[in-house]
Amino acid sequence: MQLNQGPLLYEGKAKKVYRSDKPETVLIEFKNDATAFNAVKHSEFKDKGRLNCQISSYIFEFLIEEGIPTHYLGRLSDTFMIAQNVKIIPLEIVVRNIAAGSLCKQTPIKEGVKLRSPLLDIYYKEDSLGDPLLTDKRLKLLDLISFEQQQEIENLAYEVNTFLIAFFERIDLCLVDFKLEFGMNNNNKIILADEISPDTCRLWDNRSSDPKDRILDKDRFRKDLGGVIEAYGEILKRIQGDFSKSKTSR
Ligand code: UDP
Repeated sequence: MQLNQGPLLYEGKAKKVYRSDKPETVLIEFKNDATAFNAVKHSEFKDKGRLNCQISSYIFEFLIEEGIPTHYLGRLSDTFMIAQNVKIIPLEIVVRNIAAGSLCKQTPIKEGVKLRSPLLDIYYKEDSLGDPLLTDKRLKLLDLISFEQQQEIENLAYEVNTFLIAFFERIDLCLVDFKLEFGMNNNNKIILADEISPDTCRLWDNRSSDPKDRILDKDRFRKDLGGVIEAYGEILKRIQGDFSKSKTSR
C-alpha cells in the first residue's frame, strides 16, 4: 500500500499519528521514547520504534487471521503502521493471567502467582488523573460506552487473551498481562486499536527461570534491569522464526 504522510493529528508518549492521503486511513509512527510511571520516567532507546512497530504488526496480522476486528491495515515502512482512523475510547483494558505490577501493589497477591482465571481490569485513560482503576459502577457513571459495548469490548479482550497466550506459548513466552485499547471506526464499529508490543504486555521467557533474566518487556526499563532493546529484539526474532516456520508448513 503506497500512501503519503499528511499532517500530524496527534502525538502520544510512544507514537505519532498522521493523516494520510487516503480517507479514513492514518499513519502511526512508532517512536523510540520509553516512559513509565505516568511519564515521570523517560528515556529513549535506539531501534525501539522499529521493534515495536514490527512486533505489533505481526500480532495484529495474527489476530486478524483469528477473526478479531482491528485497526491494522499494513505497514508503510519499518516504523510506520497503516491503520484505520478510529476515535479512541479512553479506557485501558488490562487482562492478567499471572499476578504482577499494580495487582501486586494493590492486593496481597504475590508476583508470579497464576490466577485461577484471567482477570480483566478497566482503567480510565487520563494522564492528569493517573489512569485510575474503574469499578463497573464508575464506568457506568462516566457514560463513555453502553453496557452492550462494554460487554463487546470485554469479550474481545478475553478472546484476544486466549489467542495471544497460544501465540506466545509457541515461542516459549509466557503472557503475564497486557493492555488493550479499542476505538470506534467510521461505521461506528468497535475495533482493536493502539499497539500490542513489549511496551504494553508483560512477557516472561519460559527458557529462563531467573526472575530478572526472564523479563522480556518494559519492566526491564521500569526496574532498571538494562538490556531493553536486546529483550525486544529477542521477541521479534522468535516471532519471525515462528512466522517463517508456519509459512513453509502451509
Ligand atoms: N500497561 C500499559 N500502559 C499503561 C498501564 C499498563 O501498557 O498505561 C500494561 C503494562 O505494561 C502491563 C499491563 O498493562 O503489561 C498491566 O499493567 P499494571 O496495571 O500492572 O500497571 P504497571 O504497574 O505496569 O504500571
